[in-house]
Amino acid sequence: MQAKADASKKAEGKRTLLVLGGGTAGWMAASLMCHRWREQPIEITLLESPEIGIVGVGEGSTPQLKGFFDTLGITESEWMPRCNATYKTAIESRAWSTRPGFEQYYHPFKTDLDDRGAPAYYFNTVMRRGNADVHSHPDLFFINSELARQRRAPLPAHQFPFRAFYGYHFDAYLIGAFLRDWAKARGVRHIEGTVASVAQHENGDIARLHTRDGQSLSADFFIDASGFRSLLLQQALAVPFLPFASNLFNDAAVAMPTPHAEANFAPQTTATALSNGWAWKIPLTNRVGNGYVYSSRYLDKDAAERELRNHLGVGDAELPVRHLSMRVGRVAQPWSHNCLAVGLSQGFIEPLEATALHLVQETVERFIEAYSQGGFERSHQAAFNREINARFEGVRDYIVCRYRVNSRTDTAYWRDAGSHDQLSDSLRGVLQAWFTGEDLVDEIERQGIAQYFGVMSWHCLLGGYGVYPEARLLRVPDERELRFDPRKIADFVQRCCLNFPLHSEALSQQRS
Ligand SMILES: Cc1cc2nc3c(=O)[nH]c(=O)nc-3n(C[C@H](O)[C@H](O)[C@H](O)COP(=O)(O)OP(=O)(O)OC[C@H]3O[C@@H](n4cnc5c(N)ncnc54)[C@H](O)[C@@H]3O)c2cc1C
Repeated sequence: MQAKADASKKAEGKRTLLVLGGGTAGWMAASLMCHRWREQPIEITLLESPEIGIVGVGEGSTPQLKGFFDTLGITESEWMPRCNATYKTAIESRAWSTRPGFEQYYHPFKTDLDDRGAPAYYFNTVMRRGNADVHSHPDLFFINSELARQRRAPLPAHQFPFRAFYGYHFDAYLIGAFLRDWAKARGVRHIEGTVASVAQHENGDIARLHTRDGQSLSADFFIDASGFRSLLLQQALAVPFLPFASNLFNDAAVAMPTPHAEANFAPQTTATALSNGWAWKIPLTNRVGNGYVYSSRYLDKDAAERELRNHLGVGDAELPVRHLSMRVGRVAQPWSHNCLAVGLSQGFIEPLEATALHLVQETVERFIEAYSQGGFERSHQAAFNREINARFEGVRDYIVCRYRVNSRTDTAYWRDAGSHDQLSDSLRGVLQAWFTGEDLVDEIERQGIAQYFGVMSWHCLLGGYGVYPEARLLRVPDERELRFDPRKIADFVQRCCLNFPLHSEALSQQRS
């Protein structure tokens, strides 16, 4: 029967693609592919296991996710209320640095209006690194940081023609369900079943998947979105996994949602450093997502849960608690044989900057481009793999830097994270430019790494942690060094923000 169906598809010139996994990665891949290839004779099927389920975390995004929904033609009022979604203008980091005056900072997304504050901030960081006592904390220079502080949504009033880029927070289960319905309505076939074995062709390509309940599913091409298991790419095709444990220590998390305490909450993720990792706080419309990402080498799971409970001030309250382990690293080749891995099966960098779904989207979009140039054939495989791997390494460098320049000394975890020498050449180059007082904008351009994290991100990180000469070495700035008046910039930034609605107002408008 199945062989007959396969032959008839071949005769019609149809190509078949099977997505294994119905987590956020699987449904994002299926949705993008069915949309981009709507004119192509490609039949897409998604197989997922209700027995295994999804990882069910991953509630924050970068601004890239707006591009994803815009590409699919899905408006915010369609998807956000269904996913309990909120806006995200920035990530606020607390307690990563002990340098006086730098115990907290925002990493904002860009806006059109940063043309005024950003050059001033970059200039001031150069002056401060040259020992001039100028204002060098990032928060007052950027619109999206101030929007978070004022609890305003990044949606400018109609008469205010300037964009603020932003990400979202959302429920991981609901976003998958939303995309499932959307993709199924556009022809993606959805099958439930648990894969028991994988059959391969003589050349090693994947031929078909056999499920426990006796289904046998073949395809020309397979997307492995099976999560940390990586059933196809890492297990069947034996593509090596390259762990990042030498400079990213965290390998576990405990998640614990709580009710909202406030009606108008800030459009921001908060990342607070704790004794052996950091805690996230992500506001959804109906609850707050919290969790502690930590290293099991330094802290056991009971102690992690206790510390998170203390941090949240919830004592022994009955709350839904989930303990998770994380495999941090990446596969050597995300595209191998007739299989592409996306999501956790492809690799994972801890969620400090919420980059995982961003990487899913980039991987799928680049793969679609490669397909349009060479079909599912392998001519573009090597270049594709190089590009995606470089992207993983670029994101990794930024996260490694967040640990390496921390100044905490309270636990072995922080001392080790801040003293190892496991830095890539690229990260060494960035740090060398910063510490020797060079212009970081030039260094980031020279290396071509702004596509992973841009100049604003790097300046906010290093300046936000207060990686500057010690206070006793500072001197009174001269006139040239005082070129930018921080009070004027702060005033400009604060006035701009008045053109944006309160976060709670914007969200209730989405629902009405
Ligand atoms: C603690 C934590 C916090 C995170 N925070 C963020 C964040 O803020 N932002 C962000 O972008 N990302 C975040 N992530 C990552 C994010 O959760 C994932 O990238 C995202 O959920 C996609 O997961 P996935 O679809 O790859 O895997 P999963 O959700 O695990 O889905 C795997 C799918 O494969 C199926 N499957 C597995 N085995 C079989 C089988 N044998 N047969 C059939 N089906 C099978 C499962 O049923 C499931 O449908 C976080 C991750 C962790 C661990």
